[in-house]
Amino acid sequence: MSNKVRVRFAPSPTGGLHLGGVRTVLYNYLFAKQHGGDFILRIEDTDQNRYVPGAEEYIVNCLQWCGLEPDESPQKGGPYAPYRQSERKHMYYEYAQKLVDSGHAYYAFDTTDELEKMRTTLQSATNTNPQYDYSTRMHMRNSIALSKEEVVELLEKGTPYVIRIKMPQIKELKFTDMIRGEISFDTALVDDKVLLKADGMPTYHLAVVVDDYLMKITHAFRGEEWLPSAPVHLLLWEYLGWKEQMPRWAHLPLILKPDGHGKLSKRDGDRLGFPVFAMNWTDPRTNETVHGFRERGFLPEAFINMLAMLGWNAGTEQEIFSLDELVQQFSIERVHKGGAKFDFEKAKWFNHQYIQRMDSAELVTLVKPYITDKGITTTDEYLAQVVGLIKDRCTLLPDFWEQGHFFFHTPDSIDVAAIKEKWADNKAQFFTQWIDVLKNLSDWNHTSIEQSFNEQLQQNGLKKGDIMLPLRIMLVGGKYGPGVFTIAEMIGKDETSKRINNALNII
Ligand code: GLU
Repeated sequence: MSNKVRVRFAPSPTGGLHLGGVRTVLYNYLFAKQHGGDFILRIEDTDQNRYVPGAEEYIVNCLQWCGLEPDESPQKGGPYAPYRQSERKHMYYEYAQKLVDSGHAYYAFDTTDELEKMRTTLQSATNTNPQYDYSTRMHMRNSIALSKEEVVELLEKGTPYVIRIKMPQIKELKFTDMIRGEISFDTALVDDKVLLKADGMPTYHLAVVVDDYLMKITHAFRGEEWLPSAPVHLLLWEYLGWKEQMPRWAHLPLILKPDGHGKLSKRDGDRLGFPVFAMNWTDPRTNETVHGFRERGFLPEAFINMLAMLGWNAGTEQEIFSLDELVQQFSIERVHKGGAKFDFEKAKWFNHQYIQRMDSAELVTLVKPYITDKGITTTDEYLAQVVGLIKDRCTLLPDFWEQGHFFFHTPDSIDVAAIKEKWADNKAQFFTQWIDVLKNLSDWNHTSIEQSFNEQLQQNGLKKGDIMLPLRIMLVGGKYGPGVFTIAEMIGKDETSKRINNALNII
């Protein structure tokens, strides 16, 4: 076996990328980078019925957004190209044939009707789901049950056939999973899976083993939903004579619904109002959109950090890890066996932490589209100031508009009711007089504005507490935002007077 660590993410292009899928990518990536190895993207598109146009491109874009770029992929190429299984179709037949020759697989000529008939006739109270296996295969039309002559005749006539693995009736199979330890299977429970279809295309089972072998994969981390397929794969590695080269496997735990009951599905996202996919995904067949973390305003670094912690921890109190730190500290042995509950509040907490720590120029670049989208033009310098003032109030990127829109435009409406609650003529008088004073304020900054405000309060015999809230609402629209005198400084003298005047007119 080559000494270099080589791992792969092997998605089928059937739709958008669930956060569980991204976590699989991440754990593969971290392991590869930690060992100076290669991370390969292989597209498993042998099931043409489930193929969805655009899904591969979407997956590639997701990996790019997450900063988890493969070393080899269909787009990048590499020493083991092609990386799309449909383009490797010609490579699989010889291995399927080798299995037939060694008696570990066989031709099966059964038509769909015949298969259906087997299922309905054998179905009983004790056997609710009859399978094509050791108990039924001798009653079917295949190269084990039929005579040699019959098989030759069928082949000569060009009868369509599939190649099935011959699962042994009694065999206990074992392997050591890097997360779960020793796992054993009873092969009698597993059906004779199809390895090669009638059109010559391999199924997932054959293709995954052949490609992991040919691409010299050393470790395979995949979701635990693949555990039931493991006995078929174990036998293929053995029957093809490659047992020594078999990658070490780790089956990753599921990501569970927030209440811990069952696997987190895309429907849970709609139901509970949070994203479940990495990026928005619109299914071209139904036009249905599943929402993504990116569009919700998550930073990829925060998303990745959150995912890393869904099922793993460093064994310390540390929760914030850069990708480099994760590469250093990750260990597959510390991944939990049990499922990890998804917690959207915690996901937001990570994003908030990353926003606070982010370099201002970088944050400006990310926030800018949310501002320009509203038809606002602004300078990076002004935006940087705003971002600095409100970032501690922001959790997701769209919050920058919610929390700071008043820095860019006169609010469309203000909370007049909240002002009116404690309004009085002497307050109206205060504001009218203060606007006049402000006109002559030569030095416009928050200190000078606050000073003039305090002087005016004194003259009118009012307390700060009486006037601060109405002033904030006049400038901002509601009871939120950073320091009110800083807001006045930022929006400028004319705009401050204008907003106070507007408010006085409608109170
Ligand atoms: N093609 C499989 C999938 O869609 C890959 C499973 C594996 O990693 O073996 O997830």
